[in-house]
Amino acid sequence: MTIRFIEKLDIGSFISAASKVPYQKLSADLFPSVEVWVRRDDLLDPILSGNKAYKLLFSLIKAKSRGLKTIVTCGGAWSNHIHATAAAGARFGFKTVGIIRGEDPGSLSATLSDARRLGMELSFVSRAKYKQERIDGLIGDRWQRKGEVLFIPEGGAGLAGIEGGRLLGQIIEESAPVVFDQVWVACGTGTTFVGLAAGLSNMSVVGVEVLKAGDSIAADALSWQKQISRDLSDTLVRVGGHSTSSHRLLGSTGWQLLSGHHCGGYGKYPASLQKFQYQFEKETGVPLDPVYMSKLFLALSGCSKGGQLDGRHRVLVIHSGGLQGRRGRA
Ligand SMILES: *Cc1c(COP(=O)(O)O)cnc(C)c1O
Repeated sequence: MTIRFIEKLDIGSFISAASKVPYQKLSADLFPSVEVWVRRDDLLDPILSGNKAYKLLFSLIKAKSRGLKTIVTCGGAWSNHIHATAAAGARFGFKTVGIIRGEDPGSLSATLSDARRLGMELSFVSRAKYKQERIDGLIGDRWQRKGEVLFIPEGGAGLAGIEGGRLLGQIIEESAPVVFDQVWVACGTGTTFVGLAAGLSNMSVVGVEVLKAGDSIAADALSWQKQISRDLSDTLVRVGGHSTSSHRLLGSTGWQLLSGHHCGGYGKYPASLQKFQYQFEKETGVPLDPVYMSKLFLALSGCSKGGQLDGRHRVLVIHSGGLQGRRGRA
């Protein structure tokens, strides 16, 4: 087995690990009308994996080149981004501070106890205050003013994160074992989706929203897109998931965001989703997390069974990691 490990904080080491990430063809009854592959970015590195590693890369490189010693970020008690930031700090020698949404619970979630063990300083903020401060951008501003600090937004969102998503797209173009027509990715903030769309020139990108986002992911995607050079604005289409009765083929043009596959909202894990995850894992041997990957594959399965995919097409699904969060459902 090839060992994948991000040894050093530079783009070359990162690309070297990312280029070894395996692609796996799924033979399952879950996707009757389409050929589905998965790129196992959950296996990128033992502690720094999935899309969060890509999203952090350019921020970390910026911090290093500016001589900043401390990384500050924020998130919830089960945040994959908090976990990855703590791991990156331990690996590459940054002090890390995590502003955590919600009062100190006394006993830490598995995610936060890992983070603390990896050296992250945890600072708890009440939900109300967190919401207020995040909206105002205060958390970041206050820390940035202390100097020597790089603030990374919640979830690793924003342009530096998009640059990482774009790198992932470029690596896929270089390393894909077969020709793919579509790349599917789970969307929280939409950062990875926008990056992929910028990095892939010959494949369309389908983003599945895992939360009730209204139009906010699409709006953010469009505004980020305006800030990066390539113009996605006239090709972005938003398709309502279950609500759509049309049998329009998915992924036939540009980039698409699918809503309606959130299973009740962010972090919601109804019995139907649990059942699907169990069946998928049993048939494929690929582990999924409950918040992102299970919903992504359930959406793909639904679209495949519903005839919304062209059977001649090959779909690549990004396994964006998040497996540490499985412990929240144990
Ligand atoms: C954070 C996360 C996502 C969502 O990424 P965005 O760039 O915020 O859209 C998808 N999958 C997993 C496993 C994640 O942890």
